[in-house]
Amino acid sequence: DVVVVGGGVVGWSVAYWLKVLEGSRHGMKVLVVERDPTYSRASTVLSVGGIRQQFSLPENIRMSRFSASFLRNINEHLGVPNEPPIDIQFQPSGYLFLASPQAAARLEATVQLQREEGAQVALLTPTQLKAKFPWIATEDVAVASYGLEDEGWFDPWTLLTAFRRKAISLGVHSCSGEVRGLILSDEHRVPLRGPASATARIKHVHVHMPDSLEYQPVTCAIVINAAGAWAGQLLEAAGLPGGLCQPPLPIQPRKRYVYSWHCPDGPGFSCPFLIDTTGAYFRRDGIAGNYLGGMSPPEEEEPDPGDLSVDDNFFQEQVWPRLARRVPAFESLRPRGAWAGYYDYNTFDRNGVLGPHPKVENLFLAAGFSGHGLQHAPAAGRALAELVVKGRYESLDLQRLGCRRLVEGEPLEEEGVV
Ligand SMILES: Cc1cc2nc3c(=O)[nH]c(=O)nc-3n(C[C@H](O)[C@H](O)[C@H](O)COP(=O)(O)OP(=O)(O)OC[C@H]3O[C@@H](n4cnc5c(N)ncnc54)[C@H](O)[C@@H]3O)c2cc1C
Repeated sequence: DVVVVGGGVVGWSVAYWLKVLEGSRHGMKVLVVERDPTYSRASTVLSVGGIRQQFSLPENIRMSRFSASFLRNINEHLGVPNEPPIDIQFQPSGYLFLASPQAAARLEATVQLQREEGAQVALLTPTQLKAKFPWIATEDVAVASYGLEDEGWFDPWTLLTAFRRKAISLGVHSCSGEVRGLILSDEHRVPLRGPASATARIKHVHVHMPDSLEYQPVTCAIVINAAGAWAGQLLEAAGLPGGLCQPPLPIQPRKRYVYSWHCPDGPGFSCPFLIDTTGAYFRRDGIAGNYLGGMSPPEEEEPDPGDLSVDDNFFQEQVWPRLARRVPAFESLRPRGAWAGYYDYNTFDRNGVLGPHPKVENLFLAAGFSGHGLQHAPAAGRALAELVVKGRYESLDLQRLGCRRLVEGEPLEEEGVV
């Protein structure tokens, strides 16, 4: 009935919620197709595991609130009888956003919105900041916002496998293979040129199995594109007539480095998840004086996403000086290692794209969360499953995250993309 393309945290969350919500459609057959069973390039397992309430878009705050509650009660949702309980190793810790004098008014307004949405966030003056975190250099900081509840980090792999284990226990099928074609039904055949009909419909997907030259056609009623950073590429490569791909789905892989270092004299256990005025971020990693962090490069210096090699110079020249300016103790840090992963980056407005495709009636999108998809997966998965099973959003109204904004050219900006 439903083919979910991509077995990352978003794909498995959608599959899980479809089974939870299937109701009178009991027995709905759901298949998750994942091309890389080792998840060597999947964003989910290469992320830094953070969840925060501090976003500027109400939909993102609401998804974070939903997900925080979901994670708090994870064993009620994803526990499987006779299997060990799930421990996502949640580390409660506030995010600390620092704002320069130029950015102060904006941060204060955003905190106001977060509070209206029910998030517990404190505003700190430089004096309060220094009193709470004496190791921070506060000279150029006008104000800071600090999350008091439902923020921290957890183990992404555990969440992914918990969704998968539960979904499979509910009857979801899983398959190793790559979806390379979305084949349209003849009755809905669309012209190769000219305006595409609004009623195009996928009849089956072509799944390329490992070690096979052949495609496996999988007939289905609904397809969900949860291919993460490759969601745009999936549609481009799937053989859909050109008119159906306009506007193109603006989601692409963007390489992000995460560096790890040791600093015995660093902030220690009280270290929050700090987002600097410069965009650099860090958090502690365990309690033995280790930290991890990084920074998104400026748009014009985006690294080649062709592979996941790490640029050590970026740390030496860009990240470390910023860290040391903010935390003088980090001048003497010792680099330990690094990895790179792909942000599932929506170049249009850096927010997820959720909901029906504008031109293919049985295709749904759930991708492009641009660096916050791990924490939003429980909420986004539920919302999309509601749309598929019930035809409307019930728990969270995420209509504004739909494709309409892409078609109409009206971005929904999120200021808090790290
Ligand atoms: C360095 C880094 C730090 C991050 N930190 C955070 C954070 O702190 N908090 C947070 O919430 N988010 C964070 N993120 C973002 C988060 O990891 C992603 O938004 C989220 O994991 C997206 O999940 P996904 O399931 O959409 O993508 P993925 O995990 O990438 O899964 C997509 C899957 O689809 C598969 N696939 C693709 N194409 C096909 C195809 N044609 N056929 C079959 N399978 C296919 C891929 O193999 C992949 O496994 C971070 C990301 C990175 C890289």
